[in-house]
Amino acid sequence: MDIENLMGREFRCKRCGEIHRVSTLYIDNGPSGEIPLFLRKAAGGKNKILLLADTITWEAAGEKYGKLIEKEFNITPVVLSPEKEKRVTARESYLPAIRKEAGSADIIVTVGTGTVTDLGKITGEETGKPVISFPTAPSMNGYTSPVAAYIKEGLKLTIPVKPALAVFSSQEVLSNAPMELIKAGFADSLAKAFANADWQISSIITGESFCSMPYEIVSASEKEYMEKGDMLLKRDPKTLDKLMEALNLGGISMSIAGKSSPASGGEHLISHFLDMYSHLYREEIFAYHGLQVGTGVIFSSLLYEEMKDLSAGDVKILLQETSQEYGKEFERLVSLFPTAGTLLEREFREKMRQIMILRESLHDKWEDIKRKAFPMVYETEKIRKVYEKADIPLHISKLGAGEELVLDSLILARFIRGRVTILDLAGETGILEKVARKYVMGDYT
Ligand SMILES: [Zn+2]
Ligand SMILES: [Zn+2]
Repeated sequence: MDIENLMGREFRCKRCGEIHRVSTLYIDNGPSGEIPLFLRKAAGGKNKILLLADTITWEAAGEKYGKLIEKEFNITPVVLSPEKEKRVTARESYLPAIRKEAGSADIIVTVGTGTVTDLGKITGEETGKPVISFPTAPSMNGYTSPVAAYIKEGLKLTIPVKPALAVFSSQEVLSNAPMELIKAGFADSLAKAFANADWQISSIITGESFCSMPYEIVSASEKEYMEKGDMLLKRDPKTLDKLMEALNLGGISMSIAGKSSPASGGEHLISHFLDMYSHLYREEIFAYHGLQVGTGVIFSSLLYEEMKDLSAGDVKILLQETSQEYGKEFERLVSLFPTAGTLLEREFREKMRQIMILRESLHDKWEDIKRKAFPMVYETEKIRKVYEKADIPLHISKLGAGEELVLDSLILARFIRGRVTILDLAGETGILEKVARKYVMGDYT
């Protein structure tokens, strides 16, 4: 599939019949000397630039980029420094400082990774200013995605925003990125098979629209770097390039879907849960987004594996046998995240509605789900090998989370979003708790 032909286009899809849009116009990767030229092209004559970075990304590339473009552009730098945490993370408290300068800017240029990009995209959406993104690491797929994730009132929210108009990743900057961020990007990018399978399941159960095109776009590129984790550890430029390309395609696949579903399923909810926990109780995150997601991917794969041989009859019996104590689970959630109560309640109510549908129809829809969704995911053994080659932590406890938190995150994460994933299928059939307890006991390490 030729992605170039999709850039900046709107088209009716032959697969699902819906209209799909890709609003990102350019994606480029070259020497950083090309930055002014690239920016001139993307800015289309506009001159006033808000240059957004945090203290780390400013040092890594922001200052240098600023110098490269200051002759031609009128630059206002906004450099975020950590507030009550060790590194800047995507929290609402950083937004006012950006908003203050965004009003008088023509364009918001973000120099950074997930946090800076998402904060820039949120401000861009609020002010109607276009965002141009200069990634400092191949660490996640948010550069081209139509969503931004941040913590509001203690809940990790994912909101729709315009994707970056253009993305320019300089080869020098990417190859000097911290290794933990490269690993995180690699781990995050391999969540797509699971995210798309979860989306397929949700579509079969709730009737929400599903399209196969987003996964088709990313699956070919995935094969080119998936087995090359060792090359990433050596910072091989070609493999880094492939990873960055795959991440940008992942973002575009979300634009096509018009939602985060093709790149974010149950495995992401586990990571979001950990982020919410660290926001309230710790000074720093457990690990970068993608590394947290990676452990979620392994857990999801265990659930898919545990359920793949069940018959519709088995599912019926398991549904009947599994107790439904949702009130207790909601109470536990609110006691962990008291500030998010109102927002959690909204998501929880939607989840309850979906669970009702799920419990009534899972038996009838089981064969369809088994035929369409289960073949999409990788087997645990395969994904473990791929991650191991890239030295990715496989178990949440390796990220520093204690036993109780690990269990809470695995069992409760499904309730922080009103969206059906494998966590719900497993939750309603009693498999989630069974696998989670074995997981905590170290059965799968
Ligand atoms: Zn489609
Ligand atoms: Zn992700």
